[in-house]
Amino acid sequence: MNKGIFERISKTNHEQIVYCNDKSSGLKAIIAIHNTVLGPSLGGCRMYPYKNEHDALVDVLRLSRGMTYKASIANLNLGGGKAVIIADPASDKSEVLLRSFGKFVESLNGAYITAEDVGMSVHDMEFIRMETNHVTGIQRAMGGSGDPSILTGYGVFVGMQAALKKRLGITSMRDLKVGIQGFGNVGHNLCKHLHEAGAIIYGYDIDQEKLDAVVNTFGVIPLSNEELISADLDVFSPCALGAVINPDSIKKLKCSIIAGAANNQLEKESRDSKLLLSKKIMYVPDYVINAGGLINVANELQGYNKEKARYQVEGIYYILMRIFDYAATNNISTLEAANLLAERRVNEFIKWHH
Ligand code: NAD
Repeated sequence: MNKGIFERISKTNHEQIVYCNDKSSGLKAIIAIHNTVLGPSLGGCRMYPYKNEHDALVDVLRLSRGMTYKASIANLNLGGGKAVIIADPASDKSEVLLRSFGKFVESLNGAYITAEDVGMSVHDMEFIRMETNHVTGIQRAMGGSGDPSILTGYGVFVGMQAALKKRLGITSMRDLKVGIQGFGNVGHNLCKHLHEAGAIIYGYDIDQEKLDAVVNTFGVIPLSNEELISADLDVFSPCALGAVINPDSIKKLKCSIIAGAANNQLEKESRDSKLLLSKKIMYVPDYVINAGGLINVANELQGYNKEKARYQVEGIYYILMRIFDYAATNNISTLEAANLLAERRVNEFIKWHH
């Protein structure tokens, strides 16, 4: 028994941590089930060459807890879970490794449902599915929900509309100045919606090809990263990396709203949300506005229906309005409001079932 781990998981209130070890396939993985009050835990499986077990555990505990909040605030009947495989996706990935992981997922009888994450592909999910049905993020052709970034991008667009209504009192995006950082799967989809809505889009991507694609297709005005952060924008939309909102960037930002898909946008949540509040920049909590991907895969569990998934993603508008109102009424940051409302839903279910 490792007392350290029990101490750690009772602090974060995790239900179950499963260490998966299979000598013949070389699998070393940790599955963390944070909370199953609202439903089975769902969260991606990340493959990453962690320096040591401790780093892998810290990551999986943090990520699985985040999934509880994300599913709760999105009004899904799902709990929070996550898995990490300690391996290098470039050199260690194999069919047996993936199938071995699938067997461990199966052994949990649906308490944890896996999905794609960093270092994993849709193709990898198919090997996992050979051993378990408790997997999402399968190709449309295989009966799954396909690429989640389409609805993630749409959800960010819808969430942006809620923020514009609340912060600026506007419903039209015509001639609105939006800056997007990162035109990958999500950023590109978001850009398409903004272009159709008549917004003026500025942007930067470290990958010149990705940037050229949106310049040519949607008339995006290219800027350097520095220029983008300090540009005179209505909305800044981080769709690439985490930790881009920090004291240094906050000093330069001139936007009224931050609304993007990237995970963990704030370098230090409490410090940076307070700084944004004092500058009257509305921060749209990342895990709420980017929940379209989770809503998409959650729909796969009941037999995927594109229209239903899209309709549920449109609900992000109302979820955010409630968060903005709660934050304003209680004079707290939007992130704190989202966290409190997510916790409240879980706690109400606990009371209801007792
Ligand atoms: P992606 O890998 O397809 O795109 C990321 C883009 O960011 C790439 O075009 C890359 O070149 C660019 N980029 C990397 N470093 C950069 C930098 N320093 N400056 C500017 N651009 C840079 O990823 P994605 O699926 O589009 O996801 C984008 C973000 O949204 C990620 O943080 C991801 O975790 C988050 N997210 C994605 C989904 C989804 O459904 N794909 C769901 C929820 C959250």
